[in-house]
Amino acid sequence: MHTKSIAELGAGLRAGEFSSVELTRAFLDRIERYEADLNSFITLAPEHALTGAAKADAMIRRGEAAPLAGIPIAHKDIFCTNGLKTSCGSKMLDSFIAPYDATVVSRLDEAGAVMLGKTNMDEFAMGSSNETSYYGVVHNPWDRRLVPGGSSGGSAAAVAARLCTAATGTDTGGSIRQPAALCGITGLKPTYGRVSRYGMIAFASSLDQGGVLCRSAADAAVMLQAIAGFDPRDSTSAQEPVPDYSEPLHESLAGLRIGLPKEYFNEGLDGEVARSIELAIDEYRRLGAEVVDVSLPNSGLSVATYYVVAPAECSSNLSRFDGVRFGYRCQAPADLEDLYKRSRSEGFGAEVKRRILIGTYALSAGYYDAYYLKAQQIRHLISDDFRRAFERVDVIMGPTSPTTAFAIGEKADDPVTMYLSDIYTIAANLAGLPGISIPVRQAAGKPVGLQIIGNYFQEAKLLNVAHRLQQESDWHLAVPAGY
Ligand code: GLN
Repeated sequence: MHTKSIAELGAGLRAGEFSSVELTRAFLDRIERYEADLNSFITLAPEHALTGAAKADAMIRRGEAAPLAGIPIAHKDIFCTNGLKTSCGSKMLDSFIAPYDATVVSRLDEAGAVMLGKTNMDEFAMGSSNETSYYGVVHNPWDRRLVPGGSSGGSAAAVAARLCTAATGTDTGGSIRQPAALCGITGLKPTYGRVSRYGMIAFASSLDQGGVLCRSAADAAVMLQAIAGFDPRDSTSAQEPVPDYSEPLHESLAGLRIGLPKEYFNEGLDGEVARSIELAIDEYRRLGAEVVDVSLPNSGLSVATYYVVAPAECSSNLSRFDGVRFGYRCQAPADLEDLYKRSRSEGFGAEVKRRILIGTYALSAGYYDAYYLKAQQIRHLISDDFRRAFERVDVIMGPTSPTTAFAIGEKADDPVTMYLSDIYTIAANLAGLPGISIPVRQAAGKPVGLQIIGNYFQEAKLLNVAHRLQQESDWHLAVPAGY
């Protein structure tokens, strides 16, 4: 059952071939069997899942079943889940039980999806390898010596190993697309504002966006349908109507104009990864698409811009973790200042502290204009590059990540090299554009992701373009050996 798509599982449930309780048990059994090798979950919620499954079975029997009714999924541990630990991968929130559900969680719940547990992640979503998690590194199911990518590394590994059908994630600079690429699955980061951030623990509020990690574009369409849409509780969520994402999946790609930015095929790109991307582009040519060279001249500045904007916003967002209101508090503080200092020193890990320090510095009087203001100006230039490109093309394609999955520990002591693994993903966050990563031909047995970036609110187009390739190829069907 674990290899079936959401549509196939839904059909099986509605036809009474199996119940959601049976399906949920099957996934819980898989988790029990493989989780020790992967560490993809922080919290498992078997009782919650089985209760949800029984509810979904009743819905299905009454004939009220939505496409996700009874389907087992997982949530990244950045989404608040009422009554259940929500750690954000940090010691700071190790004891935090969320008092309410994030909108993404409540919408999937209403759609009848069954939550199996909360997935591992880089601490406060800061990382590209899942090595900054307080709960330990996640292993890539394709090769346990490799990282799964990050920060949604637990979600990516769990979906790739078929421990759940689909999972939620968040993407501030690439954290859905990059782990999806490194684990050989489909990851969709919607337009900024398409999915509510209510109850999603904030990292960099102007960049953060919730989305989904799935096995296929067709599954991602069903998941996005459930979570997209305006939410009065998030003032940055968009009023834009939500279209049907599944219906246009099959549309022909004849005449589709694909832009290839020359800056995305530069010296930093691994040769084997480049060849896999070229093969996929050839497939699109066969499907009737036209390939156009475009340029995003400021994209080389995106990593530097991001590492001013994101730390600045995080230094402000994370000031709420003060040992008083949330989570970790140090033992026997001497006075209030000691309480703040020690709770934060002991509760946050090294990467989070590095970002808070950089952000506080960049925002301080005297440096604000030189760094933060400058970064905001460049952010505009980066958005403008995309605006110009989308006057000529429908979608932009390139690699998701410059390399395949790297070894655990390989980049852990070198933050700048680690930051460069998001070189192709960050610009879409700075511009607020949607992007999807889909698996293409592997390089030396390791997954490679093709990134497709669309114009604002063009998620349906991205899913259509991804789905057509997945109908013509079987790259997305590969399952890691042993799973
Ligand atoms: N890897 C990037 C970072 O460390 C992006 C993280 C993310 O998208 N949450 O900030």
